[in-house]
Amino acid sequence: MKITPMFKNSIWFAWLLVVPVGIWVIYQVYPPPDVSVWEVIPFLILMAVVAAMPMVVNNTPIFLIQWVSLAVFLIYGIFLEMVLIQISVLILLMRLRVQKTDLYRFPLNSLMFFIVSLLSGLLFYSLGGSNGVDLAMEPYTYVLGTIYGISNYGVNTLILLFLQALILKQKGPYFGKDFIWETVTTLITFPIGFVLYELYLSDMGHFSLLFVGIPFASLSIILSLYYSSDKVNQFLQNAAEIGHQLAERLKADEVLDLFVKKLIEMLPVDYAYILDVVEDKELKLIHKVEFGEVFEPLAARLGKGKGISGLVWDGNEPVIFHSKKEWSHINSGYIPQGAESILGVPIARNNQVVGVLILAAKKKRAFEKSQLMIVDILCSHFAIAVENARHHEKTKENSERCALTGLYNYRYFENMLTTEFEKLQSGQRDLLSLILLDIDHFKSVNDTYGHQSGNEILIELGERLRKKIGHIGTLARYGGEEFVILVPDMMKGDALKLAEQIRLLIANEPFTLLQSMDQEGKQLHVSITASIGVATAPQDADDSLALIRHADRALYVGAKRSGRNRVAEYVK
Ligand code: GH3
Ligand code: MG
Ligand code: MG
Repeated sequence: MKITPMFKNSIWFAWLLVVPVGIWVIYQVYPPPDVSVWEVIPFLILMAVVAAMPMVVNNTPIFLIQWVSLAVFLIYGIFLEMVLIQISVLILLMRLRVQKTDLYRFPLNSLMFFIVSLLSGLLFYSLGGSNGVDLAMEPYTYVLGTIYGISNYGVNTLILLFLQALILKQKGPYFGKDFIWETVTTLITFPIGFVLYELYLSDMGHFSLLFVGIPFASLSIILSLYYSSDKVNQFLQNAAEIGHQLAERLKADEVLDLFVKKLIEMLPVDYAYILDVVEDKELKLIHKVEFGEVFEPLAARLGKGKGISGLVWDGNEPVIFHSKKEWSHINSGYIPQGAESILGVPIARNNQVVGVLILAAKKKRAFEKSQLMIVDILCSHFAIAVENARHHEKTKENSERCALTGLYNYRYFENMLTTEFEKLQSGQRDLLSLILLDIDHFKSVNDTYGHQSGNEILIELGERLRKKIGHIGTLARYGGEEFVILVPDMMKGDALKLAEQIRLLIANEPFTLLQSMDQEGKQLHVSITASIGVATAPQDADDSLALIRHADRALYVGAKRSGRNRVAEYVK
């Protein structure tokens, strides 16, 4: 759900109404002991340091401050604990670089921690707890302290759940990885609060802060490292899986789609672009996805070193930007104004950059260094998968097409004819008309003008036929100077008309020979004709071979033998 301005305003209002007055009342009811500011400041520093290094799990900052707040509470009571926690929350949010539109998070967190301090403190006092006692003399305070800690964490969790479920209407799981991490780390660190308290009250005084603070900082760094390595492991597993899936795709477009889809699933991506290196000269945008929607990849081409993608290409190094300030001076073109964070990764094969991937997000600091590494690995899977798919497509294309005219070849045509016949037999088609064409006296054309000129005529004829047939049928070069056209669902009469149009298309317009010139240097024009045979299934044939045979028979018996340059239909 989107957070409405109304919600934001009411948060500010509630804060104004509750927190300042609340803290003042607490000051009146539970005045702090008479201590100098200098005594409290080291605690504030410790809390500030802890607040400034939150662990981020699942994009949720985990704030391991309960143990200091327990010690502060046990020493100085509810008022000072409250004030110090408020300052720490402020530091935490500043550290997280809350964006302008999210400023309501200040009053929201302040209010939340006020309630947490208030309820757990009042519970402690109502159960008979008091501040500054020696734990050895009054072990019951351990129990109360533990209750304080549990209620502190419990109230915090309840408020968060309430916010997620009722106000933000987020769908679960509410007890995700971040929740487990927070609970476990709080449990581990919480008892340190008692240690700090005892040491502080002993002769050690402020030194205790160092003695406890340093191991804590180390623990927190180790936990952070553990979490990120755990996360990297998962990412790696994911990457391997995605690599397999990419390798299975046989079409380059499918590889591209899947790759971008997986990236969007794994990372907080709002915009994704893939650029292809064209002839080692420039970058061409070939894929564009914005907020999950695929767009026509239109953008001016970029030279080496131009724009962010040009830099990535030039340097063959990934780049990461956390906010617009860092990249606004280099952008040139397609990256939208709304973007803040950018991840740019070269797509390389054999250390040669063949493309560039650009991911962007509206949020600042959306991408981490560890993610950069994963995306880099994915890009190499992607580069291989795309190359294989393109290779596969190319091989398939070559095996299906004639190299001279670019038309489908005999092999492709026979397969297609078989499939079409199956459709006819299963009732998906009603008719199949086949038009077979053979150039008249082509041997003498070759003899007169040369084989190369013969080829030129075949190419031009292929062009003319392609234009004429378009999508109404399938055109193929059937043999040397024979062409075949299959038109589904066309009646024989119409097929004969089409054949006649084709005949005229050839006979009425001479063919140009570009290679050979006559003695005066003018291009030569050669007139040719063709003979055409037509047969239609099911009336003329029961299977595909018979259909071809019968069209061929019409061609030779009906057209060639009767004088060429004519159309003939099959007659039984
Ligand atoms: P008709 O069909 O009218 O009986 O006479 P034709 O001269 O066309 O006879 P035929 O079909 O037997 O000969 C086909 C000729 O086409 C033989 C060959 O020289 C020529 N030919 C076949 N394939 C090619 C090709 O790829 N390029 C060129 N230039 N000529 C080809
Ligand atoms: Mg022939
Ligand atoms: Mg011929």
